[in-house]
Amino acid sequence: MIGGRTKVCMILGHPLKHTRSPLMHNAAFAALGLDYVYVPLEVKPEGLSAVIQALREMENFGGANVTVPHKVHVMEYLDGKSQDAEAIGAVNTLYKRGGELWGENTDGRGFIASLQEEGEFLPQGKRVMLLGAGGAARAVIQALTWEGAEKIYLVNRTLRKAEELASSSNRETGRSSLVPMGFDDPLFPDRLQECHLLINSTSVGLSGDDSPLFDYRLLPSTLLVYDLIYDPELTPLLRAARQQGCGILNGLAMLVHQGALSFEIWTQRRPPVERMREAVGPIKFT
Ligand code: NAP
Repeated sequence: MIGGRTKVCMILGHPLKHTRSPLMHNAAFAALGLDYVYVPLEVKPEGLSAVIQALREMENFGGANVTVPHKVHVMEYLDGKSQDAEAIGAVNTLYKRGGELWGENTDGRGFIASLQEEGEFLPQGKRVMLLGAGGAARAVIQALTWEGAEKIYLVNRTLRKAEELASSSNRETGRSSLVPMGFDDPLFPDRLQECHLLINSTSVGLSGDDSPLFDYRLLPSTLLVYDLIYDPELTPLLRAARQQGCGILNGLAMLVHQGALSFEIWTQRRPPVERMREAVGPIKFT
């Protein structure tokens, strides 16, 4: 029950019609009997700074998630950022520290936890193909690099973005594990065959009308295919991968684990991950 002592958590983004975060976090608060509530706050970019200022004044602020399109811009309004947020260059979690408003990014560690727990996959020494070079890809690259992936083929429609991201990441690590490619690269089919994991971090698959990113009949059955999209739960890529005999995971896996890490920051309690998983819907399909 919401009362006078209830702490208020929220997700800031635009649009938010399809978000499952309120469902997941309210189920988690209820499971632990915590006096918290989590609500969607649909905010356009031009309103972000005013909303952040209001959060500073809110004495019952419990914490917030930040999603598209605010993850980068929100950083300029904060008092401090964690090392993960600095390294990824984006924030997905807000919390109060003393009287200050701080930003964290749980996407990278949440992604790795989901790979290990839901996918039973350890990236160390593995070859990965990552489709997309936007905000989600940055968190995934950071996390896979920390975990010692051997090679990451970074494939993007705009090759220049993949090249820039790969060269900045290779410069930071002093290794050349990131290799940029276009979808039309003649080596694409061979590289795909040699990988253990394929991740889709593009927005292709969100709409039923999207054309496929490549010929999905090329998918080898040995691949684990992880689509960061969760609405629809089964994208055309995941459907094709299942037909080819691959293991598949959808974006609910990452949603749950990045959310669990945010929950822990806000409440200082161990998150009820199983309950959060049940609340969001199916992650694995056979
Ligand atoms: P973003 O920064 O806007 O990046 C979008 C990426 O998609 C870019 O690489 C873009 O390529 C590519 N793309 C868009 N349309 C394309 C097309 N028609 N053909 C080929 N490539 C196309 O978005 P983001 O924040 O990284 O998010 C990407 C996806 O990850 C979204 O679907 C989002 O829902 C999902 N996501 C899920 C979670 C989770 O918890 N499950 C968390 C974060 C994000 P260009 O560079 O060529 O434009």
